[in-house]
Amino acid sequence: MPLDTPKSAPRKALSAPQKALRKLGLVRPIDLALHLPLRYEDETRIVRLADAREGQTVQVEGTVTHSEISLGPRRQLLVTLDDGSDTCTLRFFSFYPSHQKALAVGAWVLVRGEIRGGFMGRSMMHPAFHAGGGELPNALTPVYPTSAQLPQVYLRKVVASGLARADLSETLPPELLASLQTVVRAPWTLRDALRYLHQPGPDVSLDALEDRSHPAWQRLKAEELLAQQLSQLTAKRERDALRAPALRPRPGGLHEQLLAVLPFALTEAQRRVGAEIAHDLARPVPMHRLLQGDVGSGKTVVAALAAAIAMDSGWQCALMAPTEILAEQHFAKLIGWLEPLLTPLGKRVAWLTGSQKKKQRTEMLALIASGEAALVVGTHAVIQDQVVFQNLALALIDEQHRFGVAQRLALRSKMTATLKEGEPSPECRGTDFAGLQALPPEGRGGDAKRASGGWEPEPDAASGAEPHLLMMTATPIPRTLAMSYYADLDVSTIDELPPGRTPIVTKVVSDQRRHEVIERIRAQVAQGRQVYWVCPLIEESEALDLSNATATHAELSEALNRPRAAVAADLLNAEEPVPAEDGVLVGLLHSRMPVAEKKAVMALFTAGHMGVLVSTTVIEVGVDVPNASLMVIEHAERFGLSQLHQLRGRVGRGAAASACVLLYSPPDGGRLSETARERLKAMAETNDGFEIARRDLEIRGPGEFLGARQSGAAMLRFADLATDGHLLDWARSAAAQMLAQHPPAAERHIARWLGTKAEYLKA
Ligand code: ADP
Ligand code: MG
Repeated sequence: MPLDTPKSAPRKALSAPQKALRKLGLVRPIDLALHLPLRYEDETRIVRLADAREGQTVQVEGTVTHSEISLGPRRQLLVTLDDGSDTCTLRFFSFYPSHQKALAVGAWVLVRGEIRGGFMGRSMMHPAFHAGGGELPNALTPVYPTSAQLPQVYLRKVVASGLARADLSETLPPELLASLQTVVRAPWTLRDALRYLHQPGPDVSLDALEDRSHPAWQRLKAEELLAQQLSQLTAKRERDALRAPALRPRPGGLHEQLLAVLPFALTEAQRRVGAEIAHDLARPVPMHRLLQGDVGSGKTVVAALAAAIAMDSGWQCALMAPTEILAEQHFAKLIGWLEPLLTPLGKRVAWLTGSQKKKQRTEMLALIASGEAALVVGTHAVIQDQVVFQNLALALIDEQHRFGVAQRLALRSKMTATLKEGEPSPECRGTDFAGLQALPPEGRGGDAKRASGGWEPEPDAASGAEPHLLMMTATPIPRTLAMSYYADLDVSTIDELPPGRTPIVTKVVSDQRRHEVIERIRAQVAQGRQVYWVCPLIEESEALDLSNATATHAELSEALNRPRAAVAADLLNAEEPVPAEDGVLVGLLHSRMPVAEKKAVMALFTAGHMGVLVSTTVIEVGVDVPNASLMVIEHAERFGLSQLHQLRGRVGRGAAASACVLLYSPPDGGRLSETARERLKAMAETNDGFEIARRDLEIRGPGEFLGARQSGAAMLRFADLATDGHLLDWARSAAAQMLAQHPPAAERHIARWLGTKAEYLKA
């Protein structure tokens, strides 16, 4: 790529407050104008000390009746203020002689601060003060979100100046202003709205400013949502202008072969989303699709079918999962199905993981570079620099919310690099490329045509090529989020579980009844069933996590094999499967274990030789053992709702009645927090991933769902999806209309609201 280095101009050094402004993203006048107050202070009134309540921030005016420097445990300036109704002690731990002078006995001062109580009487800590008797402002004073390096007074000045200088001219064409009127009565202009919120007039009350249904707020939120919709729509259009290989299933090809070897029939929902994906793949523009479906709904098969279409056409596929154990467990089946089909074609599956030995990795890299590996499965290792694909056409990302924007971009760039460096594999069959001549049907698979086939990408055009991208998630995105943050994605939903699953019964149980739970485990294991025990998440300390899991492992081994406690431990290393009458084999799995050991434990559990698997959250996603019918989650109150739901999805995969026990133990003698209780209640009340997602959004706000997307500074600052659905609906249709009919205005609107952040939204 030719490097276009701009001639660097000498840079002016920034002052400290300027740097602080930049850090807050306050660069252009419009950024300042859109930096709205966090709250307002009422400096218009003076409150009588006798009327001031504890915790209230007030302004009082009075005479200094006493002033001393106390040398107690900590040097401090203590000043007594008397306003005639009562007195108050002003306390300063850091002070200058100027403080003492201004607050000398007899001085008449205006003081502003938070009233604290206490047995020594009222006090204020480090109040703001100046000489009394001056004129009071006649309007509320805005208080801006800021940082330590940026004093409020300075910020107020630059914001006011930004507000005066910013171009606040109308971006909405008349017809959109008219349509806005149907959702917001008498909409304000942006200029009026910002003036109102930054510089409230003397008669504006705090209540009016805080009321986000006020027309000023409505206008801001509508504008913000419109900008978000516009930028995502633009991103989508830009993507639509890019090229990708058009991949079509061939009669008798890998896709059909895979369907034939599957041990089950696809559900209606799997067929439907499969068709949606196939439709995308057949187009010469990159797919950008999210496949969502509850835990256990069968997303992997759908992904495998998509991969089959791509590989059948001679292209490479990459499958990326967030953890190694997930990559292994989750895709074992998929590979089991696909590998036998690939072998006759002389193709292989390559693995890429962080823990791989160098020799093995080198081997894999060679397979990938030569194109012999049709399918590349792995963790983040897949997007490392050394990995060069011969012809990547389809990238599949599992549990997409665990990957960052940067990682997704990296995967996409793999494709671009590939196409620039060499032409696609001469073996490509039945594939055509946007802007290039389609292969004539007789060319498909025909040896003579393979090497030529109109494949030479134009040098420039290739730089726009992208792989198709399919992201999978078991955390369904609630509708409002899908419509806002994910508006640029196409979404396919598997809304049906494979037949024969029994609903999971979820019980919330206090840890005091732990022994009953252990009895239940004994009963399950006696019936030949298997049990997961998930240990608490202690975020502060991995070591604690571990000791906890180890202790639980010991406890369960002991309790379940009382006469033969020692046996179980030895059995872990036994080569032979353990007959049931020799006791219950309790395994332990945690993130610090060597990979080989993890694999060994998983293999024992998967094969059914291990009755109980104690683990930290490594099994959070992707483990598939249909015989497991009971899951115990210890300290369930520490887990997030969607995480609990994902964990629970590990049971109920077979026909046996399954249960999930959420053990909770409130912090020492205390009560569970409100949100923890709500989470557990939601879990007990519903098995429906969408309902869970909806409640999670309610309990926690959108952050969790957005994953890495939230770091893209694309978070809505003003609009609230829970209350502003009507504005979102308007913004969606307005964006499409604006982009089609008023592209320059649309561009201006995006630039105003997102500035440089717009780029990031496209990932
Ligand atoms: P998830 O959507 O959570 O990734 P998986 O793809 O892991 O779900 O599928 C869960 C289990 O269901 C797997 O054992 C898979 O083989 C099985 N499965 C998938 N589709 C079907 C189907 N149509 N009928 C029966 N079992 C299925
Ligand atoms: Mg899965």
